[in-house]
Amino acid sequence: MKNSMSRRQFILAAGALAGSAVLAGCGGSSTSSSSTSTNTDSSASDDSYTLVKDGTLTVVAELGFAPFEYMNDQTGDPEGFDVDVINAVAEKMGLQCEYLPNQKFDTLVPLIKQGGKADVSIAAITITDEREESVDFSEPYLDSNQAIVALKGSTETEATLNDASKQVVCQGGTTGNDWITENLPNATCVPVDDVTAALTGVQTGLYNAMVVDLPVAKYMLTNSFSDLDIIEEIATGEQYGIAISKDNPNLTKAVNKALEDMKSDGTMDSIETKWFGSTI
Ligand code: GLN
Repeated sequence: MKNSMSRRQFILAAGALAGSAVLAGCGGSSTSSSSTSTNTDSSASDDSYTLVKDGTLTVVAELGFAPFEYMNDQTGDPEGFDVDVINAVAEKMGLQCEYLPNQKFDTLVPLIKQGGKADVSIAAITITDEREESVDFSEPYLDSNQAIVALKGSTETEATLNDASKQVVCQGGTTGNDWITENLPNATCVPVDDVTAALTGVQTGLYNAMVVDLPVAKYMLTNSFSDLDIIEEIATGEQYGIAISKDNPNLTKAVNKALEDMKSDGTMDSIETKWFGSTI
């Protein structure tokens, strides 16, 4: 470790890494390399990974998905279950954690795939085969399902919503969006960017229903939309993962190691209890 540190410092001092810093992982690579300055590749034999910004885990998310990630109105800082998870991951890796400004949900996976802006995206992103063609995911960190939300007292059901006269809203590019397309093929599916706007639209009668992740529906209905109801829980068996570039496999490994440690040392349990009242 000492060797790789001094080698890293030498490399940085030599200014050989403009734009793409190659860092040794903090997990303790035992590589003792000959310290020639030309060999800066992260070779397959060590556990180094790249970071957009030295010493920092740069995170991108859609920050309108409480309780997973949302902006604290007072402080302007992101807060939520995922924010606590990624901060703890970064801490285990010996890194600072920094969020980029809010991005639309359907841009997150493309942004990680493209590289150069953020190291990871954590945003209650369901691990799907389609997304796995573009990015790698960490091991799952939470199980989830979908919910259909409508006005309290509404007589809508999955069957009545499957009609061209019915507007069913969702966040664009989500698994809720996919679920509507597959299961309510006759309904008019309305993808929007913002979950709060979508729920407000259900409240005002603009839309007949919304399909959204169950934990978000539960949280939003309890905290802000008491006149809405979950009319059906849909057991999709989804799992959330942290999205990481396929070009950075050792970062995925290091994130997985941090998640594993957080599971065994109780960190994950305490974050779950903080946001959901109990472990999941
Ligand atoms: N879990 C859902 C998905 O991955 C929704 C995520 C979100 O809107 N932040 O598509």
